[in-house]
Amino acid sequence: MKLKSPISRRRFTIKFFYLSAVVLSTDILLGSCGRKNTEEEAKSNPPASADPCSDLSGVSENDLELRKKFAYAKESPIIDNQCNNCNLYLPAKEDIPCGGCMLFKGPVSPSGYCTYWAPRV
Ligand code: SF4
Repeated sequence: MKLKSPISRRRFTIKFFYLSAVVLSTDILLGSCGRKNTEEEAKSNPPASADPCSDLSGVSENDLELRKKFAYAKESPIIDNQCNNCNLYLPAKEDIPCGGCMLFKGPVSPSGYCTYWAPRV
C-alpha cells in the first residue's frame, strides 16, 4: 500500500506507535492481574508438601508430652505395625487425611506407630 504524502506517513507512524503502546500496556495490566490471582491462590491453598498430620498447632502440652512418652513416630519402623491397623486408632474422617488415637489428642498418621501399638481385634 502506497501512502499519499509524508504527512500521512507521519500520522500512520504516530498512530502505529500509539496503538502499540496501548496494546503493550493492556498486556502488562492483564499479566499483572493474573500474577496477583496466582499469588492469592498459593496463599489460600498451601502446597501439597505441607503434611496436615504433622500440624500440632492446636495440641496441648500434655498431649505433646504423651506423644513423646509413647514414642509416637509418623512413620512406623515396623512395616506390619502401623496406626491404621492398631486397635486404638481412630480412623480419618472424609475430608481429613489423618486420624487420631485414643491415647492422646492431635493428628495421627495412618502409617504412624508408638510403643502402645496393639493389634486390631
Ligand atoms: Fe498409633 Fe500408638 Fe495410637 Fe496405636 S496407640 S493408634 S500405634 S499412636
